[in-house]
Amino acid sequence: MHSRMKSGMRPDFIRESPRASAPRWLCVSLHDVAPATWPFCRNVLAAVREVADIPLTLLVVPAYHGECSAQPEFEQAISQQRLAGHELALHGYFHADPHRPSDIVDWVRRRIYTAGEGEFCALSEDEARERLTLGSRWFAANGWTPMAGFVAPAWLLGAGAWRALRGQHGLQYTSTLTTLIALPEGHAIRAPCLTYSVRSAWRRPTSIVWNTLLARATQSSQILRLGLHPFDAESGPVRRSWQRLLKRVLRDRTPVTKAECVRQWRLQATHLVHRQGPQAFLRSPNF
Ligand SMILES: [Zn+2]
Repeated sequence: MHSRMKSGMRPDFIRESPRASAPRWLCVSLHDVAPATWPFCRNVLAAVREVADIPLTLLVVPAYHGECSAQPEFEQAISQQRLAGHELALHGYFHADPHRPSDIVDWVRRRIYTAGEGEFCALSEDEARERLTLGSRWFAANGWTPMAGFVAPAWLLGAGAWRALRGQHGLQYTSTLTTLIALPEGHAIRAPCLTYSVRSAWRRPTSIVWNTLLARATQSSQILRLGLHPFDAESGPVRRSWQRLLKRVLRDRTPVTKAECVRQWRLQATHLVHRQGPQAFLRSPNF
């Protein structure tokens, strides 16, 4: 597994696009990695490998819906993934949003779109800092360092969480649905994310059509992201849809982890797409 993944990081079937002068990147991430979802996560990882042996960013949750992830068997499995070349990033703490929505728009976003999982949306700076600290300590205790990334559940980041993030030593990036944000400076790098929703049956066909359209619309973006979730390999049509998409985009994009992508971006600062302060994306209508 180890050597196969290492060689798979630079697959020889990937060619430089003859038209593109700048490199084109693909970041694939797997959300909600926790003991409860791990059997399903493994299915997703296997389905990715059916297409190509590429490095992923695994978004690991310290206490998914309250269940502590500090379980030796799980930690060992995650350590193995890291040794195999995948990046581990911190993904919230509980991945649950117990706060009351402030108005109907807030309610729709937090309860309907994200199924109440926008944990870092309404936290105070102190609360967010405490959860970030606890999460990074757990990473450090397992030797999963340096921890380069933090991704808020459902990409929902409130003002308090944003301030806590910028003060978190060593973090290299966070992300929203449409951007990677280099930390601590806060540069927003255009990086649209394709994601599937398999939460309910009616969403599945919509999701497949939507992502097909979005994949065409985002062809010109230097960075493209594919955000996979634990149940994305359970439905045949959904699995085959993103596998086809993955195969297609790998023809002219190099697969990298998010940490590597941000590192490459820093080396090529001229590829900065736009620069904006936190207010421009905080509570932005991503959804
Ligand atoms: Zn999540």
